[in-house]
Amino acid sequence: MPAWSATVLGYPRIGPRREAKKALEALWAGQADVAATERALAAVRARTVRRLNELGLRAHDASIPSASSAYDHVLDAAIALGAVPARFADVVGEDGRVDLAGLSTIARGRGADAPLEMTKWFDTNYHYLVPEVGPDTAFRFADDRGVREFSEALADGFLTRPVLVGPVTFLLLSKAAAGSPDGFAPIERLDDLLPVYAELLAAYAAAGAAWVQLDEPALVSDSATAGVDGLAELVRSAYGALTAAPGRPRLLVAAPYGDLGELLEPLASTAVEGLALDLVRGAAPRRAPRGLAGKTLVAGVVDGHNVWRTDLGAALALLQELQPLAGTVVTSTSTSLLHVPHDVADETGLDPGLRGWLAFADQKVDEVVLLGRALREPGAHAGAIAAGSAARADRLGAPGAVRPEVRARLAALGPQALQRSDYAVRRAAQESALGLPLLPTTTIGSFPQTAEIRAARAARTAGRLSQEQYEEFLRAEVDRVIALQEELGLDVLVHGEPERNDMVQYFAENLDGFAVTRHGWVQSYGSRCVRPPILWGDVSRPAPITVPWSAHAASRTTRPVKGMLTGPVTILAWSFVRDDQPLGDTARQVALALRDEVADLEAAGIGIVQVDEPALRELLPLRRADQPAYLEWSVAAFRLATAGAADATQVHTHLCYSEFGEVIDAIDGLDADVTSIEAARSRMEVLPDIARAGFARGIGPGVHDIHSPRVPSREEVTELLRLAVSSVPARQVWVNPDCGLKTRGYAETVPALRHLVAAAGQVRAELAAAPVPAL
Ligand code: GLN
Ligand code: ZN
Repeated sequence: MPAWSATVLGYPRIGPRREAKKALEALWAGQADVAATERALAAVRARTVRRLNELGLRAHDASIPSASSAYDHVLDAAIALGAVPARFADVVGEDGRVDLAGLSTIARGRGADAPLEMTKWFDTNYHYLVPEVGPDTAFRFADDRGVREFSEALADGFLTRPVLVGPVTFLLLSKAAAGSPDGFAPIERLDDLLPVYAELLAAYAAAGAAWVQLDEPALVSDSATAGVDGLAELVRSAYGALTAAPGRPRLLVAAPYGDLGELLEPLASTAVEGLALDLVRGAAPRRAPRGLAGKTLVAGVVDGHNVWRTDLGAALALLQELQPLAGTVVTSTSTSLLHVPHDVADETGLDPGLRGWLAFADQKVDEVVLLGRALREPGAHAGAIAAGSAARADRLGAPGAVRPEVRARLAALGPQALQRSDYAVRRAAQESALGLPLLPTTTIGSFPQTAEIRAARAARTAGRLSQEQYEEFLRAEVDRVIALQEELGLDVLVHGEPERNDMVQYFAENLDGFAVTRHGWVQSYGSRCVRPPILWGDVSRPAPITVPWSAHAASRTTRPVKGMLTGPVTILAWSFVRDDQPLGDTARQVALALRDEVADLEAAGIGIVQVDEPALRELLPLRRADQPAYLEWSVAAFRLATAGAADATQVHTHLCYSEFGEVIDAIDGLDADVTSIEAARSRMEVLPDIARAGFARGIGPGVHDIHSPRVPSREEVTELLRLAVSSVPARQVWVNPDCGLKTRGYAETVPALRHLVAAAGQVRAELAAAPVPAL
């Protein structure tokens, strides 16, 4: 078998027109059965393999990854390895397999059975499901879905390279199953898990696989490996054991999203045949670590995580330097292409100049194929290589990339622009301005995006509705949502965000410096997809964005209405961002535009403004040494956006996760008056951390997990609230769902909010009966 020359670590799984998403949602809606859904997903997989082959990855040498997943690849690994939590044991068939219905149940929950927790995948906006592993989890090679998918491609004439989460990463990303003894860490089960991996690998080999890719991104992340002693030895012995197992395929160990650092040496010292390094985020090895010489080095020189065309000249030079260090150098993307859209050719509406700067998944495959050829035929393809480098130069010099007036305004701001009055002063001013009860109830902003809202938006896009008719429709929707909230008895109301297709795209469409795509969808979790805008130039705000909506909502009620903005860090995290200047500089430009919006909301009489930063932790660098600088600029950007607010204006923020430990000082540094966070899935686990850190401002730990269609009972919410007020002083506690309600339906939202308001009333009454100690 010839050695391969170019590959990618993975490819979008949703299908170019979101076919996989639609198939899954049809299953959940009862419009398709399991067999029809399996067929639809198989068609997407087959299309991917054919497409990668058309683009130049070879059919018979394992260049093409087999990296699909129905819902999430970490969930797939848990199912394959027999690590299904006991509460879902009934969805596992007698043969060990879990069908799409069962898989959906584990991912989405069922009645009182909470789904697996969901959290961010490294520093991306992809979310994975967190496996639960305890001392007694009975690992076994249970489900062979991956092997069947490999065989299906082989039958189609393609020898692909199966991709699965590696054993170390699998355990490091798992959480201790409920009931595990204190201090238990899933990684302690590594020796029990390795034989199951060996069995799985042997099954792939028996089915004909030449190579299998094991993804070990946890090895580049200090937080994933925190607390593990002797990591190098653990890696060496794990891969020593796997490579010693009989009947295995060749192994490619991939370390995307960062730099392996000191773990490169131990990995290279094992008998694995290939290593995939991220050379965009990580540094290229200067000298060959012992053991690399005979191996295949899969060199990730094309950014799998952003959309700019590669500087091909620079990439080729790097590849040439690497060539003497390894047996074979294969050109590749730095990460799976899961994080980018399919094809720039679909974006016929984009400015042609901008289009020429972009590379989506298919263009990145072109780039790795071209680099692979150029590496093997020195001197050939010089024209194409130069064109890649020229596209980059063209982008950096384009009009709009640098706007002196934007830069001058920022340069003129002093440090006082980031500073509000003391919290005590603000608190008093806000109490008298707002007059809220103890345990105030609110929501995170969006209400369900109904079929009618989507239809109206589509009609507007297609020109069937005029702008006036569309806005009329949206105002009626706001009226309805305000009336509903009054009826439910919520204390702080929202307008419901019906005008927003997406919380980042909406701002991108209304700010200068951004472009938006038509088909540029990427998977966020399960069937949920987002369309990240492209931030290419200097940012400014041509006109107020949200003010008319919030002002209209406020005119319909006497209760306080909260204005809703997306924060600068989140706008960056969920966009594809220019890479020609530090992110912090770009964040300041966005923040200044938002600061103007906050001022206009205040001027329109809005007394509460929420600036969402759900992605604050997502961009946290994976290496601890890089974190302080990041936290400094990200916190400063939030403060720049919000610190212009008057004392009486209550600034809220919302963060979409619950791992707070690492960033708690930064959250405190945001200086928001109220912070809402995710907490329902993890049963308020985060609150003791918050209390310990002495966090003294308002905190709204989510009591309703909106990522699941399950409606929590009134008792369940009451119980969560009791937990909250037992760890944090009641006067700090707010009552709200985990996140926005846009992905839910009214059938779930109305009862869930009813239970939330009732639970708040109940706990208020309990507190009144047993008074809180005065502060
Ligand atoms: N205000 C946004 C909403 O409610 C926040 C969403 C988020 O945090 N992802 O939809
Ligand atoms: Zn959220």
